[in-house]
Amino acid sequence: MEKQSKLRTSAISASIVPSEIRIMSVECERVKGINLAQGVCDTPTPDLIRRAAEEAIAAGINQYVRMDGIPPLRQAIARKLLSYNGIDADPEREVLVTSGSTGAFYAACTALLDPGDEVIAFEPFYNYHTNLIAALGAKPVIIALPAPDWEIDRDALTHAITSRTKAIIVNSPANPGGKVFTRDELEFIADLAQRHDFFVFTDEIYEYFLYDGRKHISMATLPGMSERTITISGFSKTFSVTGWRLGYLACAARWKPAMAYFHDLTYICAPSPLQVGVTAGLNELGDVFYAELAADYANKRDMLCDALMKAGLKPSIPQGAYYVLADASSLPGRDSKQRAMALLERAGVAAVPGSAFFRPETPSANNMLRFCFAKTEADLAEGCRRLSALEGAGAAA
Ligand code: PLP
Repeated sequence: MEKQSKLRTSAISASIVPSEIRIMSVECERVKGINLAQGVCDTPTPDLIRRAAEEAIAAGINQYVRMDGIPPLRQAIARKLLSYNGIDADPEREVLVTSGSTGAFYAACTALLDPGDEVIAFEPFYNYHTNLIAALGAKPVIIALPAPDWEIDRDALTHAITSRTKAIIVNSPANPGGKVFTRDELEFIADLAQRHDFFVFTDEIYEYFLYDGRKHISMATLPGMSERTITISGFSKTFSVTGWRLGYLACAARWKPAMAYFHDLTYICAPSPLQVGVTAGLNELGDVFYAELAADYANKRDMLCDALMKAGLKPSIPQGAYYVLADASSLPGRDSKQRAMALLERAGVAAVPGSAFFRPETPSANNMLRFCFAKTEADLAEGCRRLSALEGAGAAA
């Protein structure tokens, strides 16, 4: 007889739960529904980017490259950081090309956080942020932002700061709430970060997805913030290349070696031919591309929000990014998972249960669903038609 094994997973593995986004995608596929759950861009990758990557593969650029990214890409990122964000970063010492912005966040957290450190995150949160912090033995400290305006409760934020606070995460425009932090809010956070001496990790991956005339503001450009801000972004969303796994971070030169080390340890380098592809995108796509992107997504946002209103699922109108959180309390179910399943059954539309973005004790966790509008015109139109058809049927009937 085999000896009883004492093998077990790590303590942290015992607490992991499967991603609800992925679960909903599987359910949606099963019923051949319209998937407004997962945040993958169904829109096409610009031709010149795709071609540049294909040519790079054909030309034999298929091996490891420098762990911090190929020089032309770091230089192109530095130019973009200066012209769009107003950040003056040295491509050699202050820019790290990463495997997606997820790789950048991983590198920043492993390089800067110790077990027991506290990191403040706003709710609704992007759970890859909070889950990674917890996986590293640090502690996410959650500050609720109330719907529909998601304004910061400044007292709550100030009171959440302790001697263990090492960083705060600012995701603007935000997934899932679509919040765009105002300059005043960013200044308030910057002031706290300087007074209490902590880092600011900014996730700016949706920096071009801005609506109603809003402008992107990067935390690193505020006075006194360049040293303590880790600016994270990537190409997944802007260039519709979520599967390419390409992002970057910009930081003060003193932090880069540790971040590059941890990124190297996991990824060695970001995919080399694809780095050539996005370099072409950065160098050749101009303001018109980014303006059209925002205008196109603004139309999609309006289309989806109209359909949600008709369906009796009151949306909170996003200021940026490409998700809508909607109040689904009119749908049957005890919690947001059941409501998401009810919607899938009735309308054939998949959304993500709010519980993926809120703590269990927050009431919105039970009522909210997240819808993504980074879809092709045809899929979004069909999803909206199905949602609108719930009108009058009485969602809770
Ligand atoms: N950050 C936020 C806020 C996101 O919503 C996502 C994807 O949905 C990511 C990061 C992942 O980006 P990447 O593909 O660059 O790793």
